[in-house]
Amino acid sequence: MEQSKEFHLSFSRIAIYEACPLRYKFIYIDKLPTAERSYFSFGNTIHKVLELFYHPEHNFVVLKKPPSEYLNELLEKNWISVGYKSKKEEEKAKEEARRILLKFYRENIFGFKPARFVEKNFSFNVGEFKVIGRIDRVDEDNNGFKIIDYKTNRILPRLFKEIDLLQPAIYYMAAKRALGIENVNSVSLFFVRFNEEITFDLKEEFLKKSEEKIVKTGEAILRGDFEPRPNGKCSTCEFRGICPVFKEK
Ligand code: SF4
Repeated sequence: MEQSKEFHLSFSRIAIYEACPLRYKFIYIDKLPTAERSYFSFGNTIHKVLELFYHPEHNFVVLKKPPSEYLNELLEKNWISVGYKSKKEEEKAKEEARRILLKFYRENIFGFKPARFVEKNFSFNVGEFKVIGRIDRVDEDNNGFKIIDYKTNRILPRLFKEIDLLQPAIYYMAAKRALGIENVNSVSLFFVRFNEEITFDLKEEFLKKSEEKIVKTGEAILRGDFEPRPNGKCSTCEFRGICPVFKEK
């Protein structure tokens, strides 16, 4: 059971537990290594590039650099090679990243404003549980603030499950409780491949439900509820070989 003083929750921990409690146990309690995946490297690279591009003090305006060249420079410097099966696959992915950033540049450069914060860490409590995380970008917006989280999904989601909305809810709570931002005007997920921003209307009732979800998940983990929950991603789960659901078969 995970009971140490260091125990904390985050959106990704809750999402992993929600998908399969046993997988959560393998990762966070047994601390088994997870598979290196190229899509994590790709997503982390894009996040880093955009973090630096919107940096409040070191953006291209301050550095006096042409923005599109600067985006490419950032891509080269921050490219993460981990998880690609071959050099060819990696080069293809890098080319795709260049295309995405060029599209991003063309469609966003005219409204460019440096962020107020980038990659802002937070920590706050919900009941007895500590929730930690990091907000990608906080912009000033009409006497208030706008929270943006980048996504590099290949498919633009049109429907969101309750668990997907937990992330914006956590950011909203974090901005108010941990970062001292009172007037949060909006929380958006920005789908970089599509240059599309989806903004959520987080009603009080939903925020309350989100808090309950956090507490419920924390309690289940402390109780040691780690039943396997077979799901659509079992075929790519790195623990399939030791998972009782598949081992017995
Ligand atoms: S194979 Fe499926 S059921 Fe087993 S641990 Fe992985 S995600 Fe859970």
